[in-house]
Amino acid sequence: MILDDISLQKYGYIERGPLNAINIDPLQRGGILTDEARRALTQWGDGYSVCDFCPGVLDQIKTPPIYDFVHEALPEFLGIDEVRVTNGARESKFTVMHAMAREGDWIVLDQVAHYTSYVAAQRARLNIKTVQNSGNPDYKTEPQGYATAIEEVIKESGKPPALALLTYPDGNYGNLVDAKKVASICHQYDVPLLLNAAYSVGKMPINAKDLGADFVVGSGHKSMAASGPIGVLGAVEEYADIVFEKSPTHKVKEIELLGCTARGATIMTMIASFPTVVKRTHNWDNEVTDARWFSEKLEGMGLIQIGDKPHDHDLMFFEAPIFFDISQKVKKGRYFLYKELKERNIHGIKAGLTKFFKLSTYGVGRDDLNIVVDAFDEIIKKYE
Ligand SMILES: *Cc1c(COP(=O)(O)O)cnc(C)c1O
Repeated sequence: MILDDISLQKYGYIERGPLNAINIDPLQRGGILTDEARRALTQWGDGYSVCDFCPGVLDQIKTPPIYDFVHEALPEFLGIDEVRVTNGARESKFTVMHAMAREGDWIVLDQVAHYTSYVAAQRARLNIKTVQNSGNPDYKTEPQGYATAIEEVIKESGKPPALALLTYPDGNYGNLVDAKKVASICHQYDVPLLLNAAYSVGKMPINAKDLGADFVVGSGHKSMAASGPIGVLGAVEEYADIVFEKSPTHKVKEIELLGCTARGATIMTMIASFPTVVKRTHNWDNEVTDARWFSEKLEGMGLIQIGDKPHDHDLMFFEAPIFFDISQKVKKGRYFLYKELKERNIHGIKAGLTKFFKLSTYGVGRDDLNIVVDAFDEIIKKYE
């Protein structure tokens, strides 16, 4: 390996395919930049660009308006007392776990929690108790399962878990559990609840106070039209001093944030997109209507939507025996679906998947969703 081999120039800077395609990748749908964010990205792309007028703490920067964003806009948007930006949803979760629990303490996670919730808990050296779900085909988590899990922890360890986490929605099936009920169950045992809203903050209205969550976590590059990595972390007053504790040696620096987080273009793209993001959360009912319409169309072709039905979120998981059967017969095998969709300028279903896949309808709009529906129909008919 020669160092000179790593050169984007040599590869013509590599055109990124999905830019002009119809993108239904759940991972990417909510993170597509607004024009404003794209401009901010070039303006603020230099390293440490936001630090010109920093008084020592990122969220105290008045110009650009990071202070107003973090201390005024985000708390109102999330319905929570104190907010910080982090380097991602996973960093937000680790921050809370590390601050709220000690090595060997227990944490309760829903079984469908994102892998980053498990890894964050492992990094914080916690024991994990999971809340089981109903399994195929609904994968439904009953709020009462949190009581069961908490009581098991009490029985096994002599005290309640340090924290409970609810994934809202989960990243596989897009299921939304009754968070209010989960919060009230957790609070009966004095267990604080963290709402992992990586797939919802920035897409749908999320108000931590209304839901009863003590912590709320969002992902900028997942759902807030920001160029990541960037996340948000909100905490209620009661726990804010613990999670945002300051260093005894460097008085203004917050320990769990390692003193500073999103120190450049990432936060500027998030701020640039924010007005659009706030507005689009008000359009959530239409997004759900589109998702349900799309699900019905695909079910009409013999696909099966797994998880909550009717669905309440744009992230949907489909079982497609019809595509699996085709993949068994055709020359291109399991890559046929990816190739057929690519030829129709549709991006976002992972290459090689046919039997099960997830997708998102978020912000695609009826016109392009119709193109996707027609594409599925054509592909099925082509191989019949
Ligand atoms: C994508 C995702 C994450 C990770 O978000 P990052 O901001 O990249 O750390 C965490 N939880 C869920 C449910 C996710 O879907």
